[in-house]
Amino acid sequence: MKRLNIDLADRSYDILIGRNLLAKTGELIAERFNPSRVAIITHPSIRNLFGEPIESGLAAVGHVPEFIEVPEGESSKSLQQAESIYDRLLEMNCDRKSALVALGGGVVGDLTGFIAATYQRGIPFVQIPTTLLSQVDSSVGGKTAVNHPRGKNMIGAFYQPKLVVIDLDTLHTLPQKEFRAGLAEVVKYGVIADKNLFAFLEGNAKAILLLDSHCLEHIIETSCAIKADVVEKDERESRHRMILNFGHTFGHAIETLTNYTGYLHGEAVAIGMVQAAWLSAKTGRCSEDVPQRIEDLLKKFGLPTQPPDVKSQDVIESMYHDKKTERDQLRFILVKDIGSIEIVDDVPETPIKAVLEKAG
Ligand code: NAD
Ligand code: MG
Repeated sequence: MKRLNIDLADRSYDILIGRNLLAKTGELIAERFNPSRVAIITHPSIRNLFGEPIESGLAAVGHVPEFIEVPEGESSKSLQQAESIYDRLLEMNCDRKSALVALGGGVVGDLTGFIAATYQRGIPFVQIPTTLLSQVDSSVGGKTAVNHPRGKNMIGAFYQPKLVVIDLDTLHTLPQKEFRAGLAEVVKYGVIADKNLFAFLEGNAKAILLLDSHCLEHIIETSCAIKADVVEKDERESRHRMILNFGHTFGHAIETLTNYTGYLHGEAVAIGMVQAAWLSAKTGRCSEDVPQRIEDLLKKFGLPTQPPDVKSQDVIESMYHDKKTERDQLRFILVKDIGSIEIVDDVPETPIKAVLEKAG
C-alpha cells in the first residue's frame, strides 16, 4: 500500500493506494478517528459490487454502518437529494461525531462531501473512489458541490475528507469508456507538471489499458501527488490551482454546446487539451511537436481529439459565460512544454478562432 499525505495544517489527510483495501477500511478509519455512527452513501450497483467487504471491515472494529443509496447519474448531485439524506441522518440520530463514507465515483463523492460539509456544520467523511476519474481527481482536494438548475457545481464548499482509500481492484468492473475518460485527467497531470509521467503513459499505454496493477498504482499515485501539491499551494483556487483546468476551457464549452450528452467529461477534456495545446503553439509558447504528442497519446488511449461540429463563435460565447472566466477576458492554461504550464489571462480571440477553425 502506498501512502501520500496532503498537508493542509489541521485539515491534512492521507491518501492510501493499493489492492484489497476495501476490507481494511474499518481498521484504517479506526486508526485515525472514532466515529459515533457511520453512513455509507453509494449507488445500489456499487453497493452490490463493493459494499460487503467494507461493511464487514467496519463491523470488525465495532461499527454497524447504514447504507444510503442514491440513483446513478449527475442528477443525484442536487439539493433535493441532499435534503432526503439529511432526513435519513437525523432519523439515524447522527451527531457531529458521525462519519459519512462516499463509495463510488465523483457524483457520490461530491454529494457526500457537500452533505458532510453542511450537516450539523460539518462532520467527518471518507472518500472511497471507484472510478479512475474520482481516484485521480475528484476525491482529492476538497471541492464538494451539488448542481443548481442554472449551472453545474453552483452550490458547494471547500471541505476536505479525513481519509481517501483508493482500491485499485475496483477498476476491474468499471466500463472501458469511463476508464478511458479518467485517463484524460492523468494525461493532463503529465502535461501540466510531469514530463516523466507523460513519457510513462506513452511507453505503457497498452499495459495501462489492460489494467496492469503496477502501472495503475504508479499513474494514480503520481496523479494524486501532483494534485496534492497543487492543492497544498492554493487550496481555494486563488490562482495556482487553476492549472488543473488545462483543457477545461475548451472542454466545458464542448460539454455545454452538446448539452452534457455527447461526451463524458474526460472525453471533452481530451479534445480541449488538444485545442489548448494548438493554441499554445499558435501563440508562440511551444513548438508544434507538443500538441502533436498530446494528440497522439490521447489517440493511443482511444480518446477523441477532434471537436464535434460546432460553430467557433458559439464556442467563444460559451467560454465567456463559463464561471471560470473573469470579466470579459478569456483565460487559458497554456503549455510551454510537456510538464510546464502558464496561466494566461487575456488571450485574444484571433488565435482562438484560428484553432477552432483549423479543427472544424
Ligand atoms: P460517476 O460518479 O457518475 O461514475 C460513473 C459511472 O460509473 C456511474 O454510473 C457509476 O455508478 C459507475 N461506477 C463507478 N465505479 C464503478 C466501478 N468500480 N465499477 C463499475 N461501475 C462503476 O462519474 P465520475 O466520472 O466518477 O465523476 C463525475 C463527477 O465528478 C461529476 O459530477 C463532476 O462534476 C465531478 N468532479 C468533481 C471534482 C472535484 O474536484 N470535486 C473533479 C472532477 C469531477
Ligand atoms: Mg476535470
